[in-house]
Amino acid sequence: MKALLVTALCLFAVAPQSEDKAVRMLEKAQKRAEQGKFDEAQALYRQLAKKYPDTPQGVIGKRRGKDSAYLGQGDVLRHGPSENRLDFVLMGEGYQITEMAAFAKLAEDVPDVFRRNEVFGEYYSYLNFIRADLVSADNGVDGYGRDYDTALNGKTLGTFAGHVGIDRVAVRQMLQEMPEQDGQAIVFAKLGILGTGGGGVATIGGRNMATMIHEIGHSYGGLSDEYTALQAGRKKGAKPSRNTNIAISEDPEESPWSHFLKAKVRGVGMHPGGAQFVKGAWRPTAGKCAMAAGRVFCPVCREELVMRLYSYCDPIDAAVPEPHSFDSKEDLVAGRRGVSFEVTVLQPATHELEVDWWVLPANRAPRPIDVTKREKKRSKKGQSVATVKSQVTTGPGGRRVAPPVPIKAKPTKSTKPNNDGVHKFRMSTKGLEPGRYRVMCRVHDTTEVRGSRAPWVVKDDGGFLTSTVGWWVRIEE
Ligand SMILES: [Zn+2]
Repeated sequence: MKALLVTALCLFAVAPQSEDKAVRMLEKAQKRAEQGKFDEAQALYRQLAKKYPDTPQGVIGKRRGKDSAYLGQGDVLRHGPSENRLDFVLMGEGYQITEMAAFAKLAEDVPDVFRRNEVFGEYYSYLNFIRADLVSADNGVDGYGRDYDTALNGKTLGTFAGHVGIDRVAVRQMLQEMPEQDGQAIVFAKLGILGTGGGGVATIGGRNMATMIHEIGHSYGGLSDEYTALQAGRKKGAKPSRNTNIAISEDPEESPWSHFLKAKVRGVGMHPGGAQFVKGAWRPTAGKCAMAAGRVFCPVCREELVMRLYSYCDPIDAAVPEPHSFDSKEDLVAGRRGVSFEVTVLQPATHELEVDWWVLPANRAPRPIDVTKREKKRSKKGQSVATVKSQVTTGPGGRRVAPPVPIKAKPTKSTKPNNDGVHKFRMSTKGLEPGRYRVMCRVHDTTEVRGSRAPWVVKDDGGFLTSTVGWWVRIEE
């Protein structure tokens, strides 16, 4: 979702011709990396830095021409535009220039691990996998007194098992080289063992795909471990922290998943131990979650992962014609055949999003909560200044949502998609008085996945699972 212009043109340069050449050379270097010709890309960046040192492109060339550097990117699997997908960026650490093709090959195996996971498999088409091509001068991992020059400063951590970790600042710097990404990286450290995850970065030792989904639970889902075994030393008296999947009191009312307990979702309870603590922590299931040693995520973790997906992705991918805001003065004029609308929605693997349409006279159209407005203080005459609590929520993926406004009338129509996920609706003018009308389309994910006893998402107070668009239509005399 974040965009960064890395190839910005400097329009006021003294020598526009050399500027042009520098732009072309940068494009060529990036193209070579995309084609897997990494040595050629590296040579071009170095040439760029030498020939045009005073251009913005020359500066990029200098950075990317280093012995350990970012060389470019390529799509491993693209399901849609980055604006409305969750982009996972795959990075190799400790891969020398002649080993980068092997990393590209390893990256090809990553999407299928997600596809085979229950949650990510259901929402597979919501994901993109992008390879970042990083070259390392050395192929070792720092630790035990050795120091290697690698792209992400990989080092052996002070855990009992010697987990591999990388420098998150270095990961951020590499992500900044990419025009479109969501701050979610999966790093494969060539010579490391075991994995770590957190803050948008999952690190996998070697090609240990078995640990990847668990680390993604940390890095993308913000989830805690559900096992009790301690992985590294800690201060005396340290206590577990409350999180989505960790309670710090046995009281079900106080539990972060109390809504699951109230809804009596099978398999969810209060089980002692978690977050690498035997005492003082409780987890939702008896130890079968992927955040422990299980293969699938427990219902509590699953809900969080789905909710987070909808903070990157809007259920509505595209709408034609361009929707009108509620306050828009524009309208579409209905012809004899009425007006036709098309809405493209995202498509989970085994269930379909619900799509409902309404045609409402202007005076009965509900005003939605404006998600573009920030929370602000308002004062009414004679009253003290009070904070008006905003109903708008911003998710970790940056999408701003508000609870959907209730629509009292029954939907005019509910539609099914064609093979491309396109829903078509034609507003007929038959029996309608001349005047202004609001056509509304509301898309909702029930999360009632095939084979599941209960919806995957039990509570969605913010309104992440729903998206509504509207248009104004005028029927003339
Ligand atoms: Zn769990």
